[in-house]
Amino acid sequence: MRFKRLLITAALCLTGMFLIVRGAQFLSDARSSGEIAPTSAVQAGSLSGEESASSAVPMEEDVSGRFDAALWPETVKQGGFIRLVVVGEGAETVEVENPLGQEVRWGWHRGVRTALLPVSWTAETGDYVFTIRGGNRVQQLPITVADGEFPVQELTIDTSLTQSTLNSDSANAEYMERAQPVKSEFTGNGLWKGIFLRPVDGGWRSTEFGSIRYVNGSFAERHGGEDLAVAAGTPVYASNSGRVLFAEYLTLTGNTVCISHGLGLKTWYYHMNELWVQPGQDVNKGDVIGLVGSTGFSTGAHLHFGATVGTLWVDPELLLSGTVLPE
Ligand SMILES: [Zn+2]
Repeated sequence: MRFKRLLITAALCLTGMFLIVRGAQFLSDARSSGEIAPTSAVQAGSLSGEESASSAVPMEEDVSGRFDAALWPETVKQGGFIRLVVVGEGAETVEVENPLGQEVRWGWHRGVRTALLPVSWTAETGDYVFTIRGGNRVQQLPITVADGEFPVQELTIDTSLTQSTLNSDSANAEYMERAQPVKSEFTGNGLWKGIFLRPVDGGWRSTEFGSIRYVNGSFAERHGGEDLAVAAGTPVYASNSGRVLFAEYLTLTGNTVCISHGLGLKTWYYHMNELWVQPGQDVNKGDVIGLVGSTGFSTGAHLHFGATVGTLWVDPELLLSGTVLPE
């Protein structure tokens, strides 16, 4: 049984990779030769309409069942995310049933129709099946959600700091009002280039993603990113190319930057001493966006580095390792 599953997995991976290569080639060939409009099925339809007098292609041909989908990785930890791709003539009209309950928002990355799907850190572990439908074709893609193995962290912190930040209603309201809405932004093209960069040189990881955090004996929060302890004044790099959506001081998170990398993927940088970028600015991977500090809810110099897909925090280590987005 296990062997059979492995064989099927291997076959799906190979098929997926082949289809991506073939799909990207098909799409770029078709676009450069002007055979189809860039994205719009309506435009493509009007083109075939104009050509119908001299062409043998039937106008009413239903291509919605002509697609192939694949996803990575097939085993994902709680707090991870998935890349779903679909190629073929019916790629733009497929419907997806996401068993993890998150909205599926499609865009393009390197010429391939792509959606990024977060897996909540509270998702039940176990096996799930994605169902992709188009025309009379139904494709099912299995995934397994594994335990995130989140550590518990107990901190003792001066209550004057917690009262003015973590436990302050106004500080939390400010974050929800200013920063939270940014997570919903969606750009339909992937803007990242290659594997994501660690945003600071040197230092060490002082708190892991998803840690279950107790402060002064009470449960305080789940830690939405990873903390990189490093000297104040260390340059903070844009982990990848994209557009700055947010760059301002917040009581809870100090000097805060959010960069959109497209397809609903964003990286977040907290507690900086200085901000070197402004909202709306395009940045390249490796550009300095600010300097490490200890502003907001922080007891010492460090960079809090986070990532969101849609409205959920995901493990930024997945970006740095290239596990889900190898290119
Ligand atoms: Zn942190």
